[in-house]
Amino acid sequence: MLKWVDKLGYNCIINKIMKVKFWGTRGSIPSPGKNTVKYGGNTTCVEVIPKNGKEIIIDAGSGIRLMVDKIISEGIKEISLLLTHSHWDHIQGFPFFTPIYNDNFSLNIYGVSPTFERLLDILKGQMDFIYWPVKFEHIGANVNFKKIDNSGISIDNVKINSIMTNHPLETHAFKFEESGKVFIFMTDNELDHLHTAKVPYKKHLEFVKDADVLVHDAQYKKEEMKKFKGWGHSSWQEVVSFAKKAGVKKLYLTHYDPDRNDLEVDKIIKEANKMAGDSLTVRGAIEGESFEI
Ligand SMILES: [Zn+2]
Ligand SMILES: [Zn+2]
Repeated sequence: MLKWVDKLGYNCIINKIMKVKFWGTRGSIPSPGKNTVKYGGNTTCVEVIPKNGKEIIIDAGSGIRLMVDKIISEGIKEISLLLTHSHWDHIQGFPFFTPIYNDNFSLNIYGVSPTFERLLDILKGQMDFIYWPVKFEHIGANVNFKKIDNSGISIDNVKINSIMTNHPLETHAFKFEESGKVFIFMTDNELDHLHTAKVPYKKHLEFVKDADVLVHDAQYKKEEMKKFKGWGHSSWQEVVSFAKKAGVKKLYLTHYDPDRNDLEVDKIIKEANKMAGDSLTVRGAIEGESFEI
């Protein structure tokens, strides 16, 4: 990794590879405590650092608060924040991400049309004075809002495309492509192979086909799905089967149910690898851990 500071004072980094780090892996609500120490209790936040070193963050769940030290200590002055949707567990950390109060900081907020405006209204609305002392309009950072449309976007040489998931509120998964490597983040998605869903199973299969790494929602177990059908989350068994069919090389399970303890997740990962066979590796997303692609 090469690091330097350019003429404008921006920190520049060049990685040889794409890096991804989990800052929040929990679904629905933060769940700290002795039972969730290993996999983590913070809600969704994932950092993607492409080869060019630009800072990309997916979702602003409570995990984003843990990133503040890194942003300050590394002198990072610009980030791109991609939002999957506006459920609490994906935006509630935003007001606690203190670089946004610095007027030397730039924030590019990306979401997928056509509900982008509503997503922003909710992101800003959670900072209304009855919930939070500083209004969004007063945060200081230079904020740019950017829509991702059907043709996708590029952040420098990283191509980013999206697809809608099956979730009660419009939600999107993101695909990152750089130098022939493919990373997909797909959470809050109820896989439905019966083709009764808003987005057919086939479309999701095409989207993740041959990905190097897929991170997917695995909030439930198969036996729990009867109770939670239509809630917009998948069983780990359904996710493993999906990843195998799509030819994914490595799968990370995430968005754990808040009641799922570490021992249960350990057991799930073990069973998932048995089911996956030799062609697919399954890991559990762990808060604070990273991987390279
Ligand atoms: Zn969620
Ligand atoms: Zn959700």
